[in-house]
Amino acid sequence: MHEFIVGNDKKKHDFVCARELANPRDCIICDKMMVKKYGTNDEVPAKPSDKTLGLAILRKELDDGSVVDVLHEKAVEIEVDGEKVSVENVPVVGVIKQGQRNFWDNFNGYYTRYKTTIDRDYVVTRQGKDKNTKYAVIPLDFEADSGVLKDGKKSKALLEETYAVALASHPSLIEYIEKLGSVERYDFFLGERKPQAELDDETEVEATDETEEGPVAEKPAAKTAASSLQAKLLKHKKAAA
Ligand SMILES: [Zn+2]
Repeated sequence: MHEFIVGNDKKKHDFVCARELANPRDCIICDKMMVKKYGTNDEVPAKPSDKTLGLAILRKELDDGSVVDVLHEKAVEIEVDGEKVSVENVPVVGVIKQGQRNFWDNFNGYYTRYKTTIDRDYVVTRQGKDKNTKYAVIPLDFEADSGVLKDGKKSKALLEETYAVALASHPSLIEYIEKLGSVERYDFFLGERKPQAELDDETEVEATDETEEGPVAEKPAAKTAASSLQAKLLKHKKAAA
């Protein structure tokens, strides 16, 4: 991942290094760009850094201690069988983009202990900033009545069922990677062409990085969904009504 690369709109953007894609190509960032070495004014050739990505459902704790999904404020468009459906009250899905050592290693211990990391909520707190940023990860208690099982495989199936609509409204991690590494994105932000209003960052995927607070969810975007989603959308509409 190339982070904080200044585009021709003068804003900073992230790119997946074009050399690292499944279908690699030349990377203009590696080949031509210089970046400031951290904490100095020295310019050094840009190099990609390793990041680990994960999808997360954004949740919030209420005063009574219960935890609920954070919902999109506006209706989200999902494409089902070529038809756009507007769905309300869709849970927010976010991409967490963090370093393995300073973020994800926190979860390794929990994985060893619980055999999965998706059977409970986690509170993630950011401490310090810049190079001294650390994350404290506190697992909440497993709740037997949450419907999630103490079993990684079954939990995954259950979560995918529960959040089918939310997941359909959000790019998968592969789609996210392809988008951040796409020729279109490189051309748009780093090519000759000036950014245009209709292609501005409104359509970009946002994600956390080490300089931002907490997981940042991505904005709703229309996405093609399998027709098996129809039933779930209906259920969702009923639940929302
Ligand atoms: Zn590169």
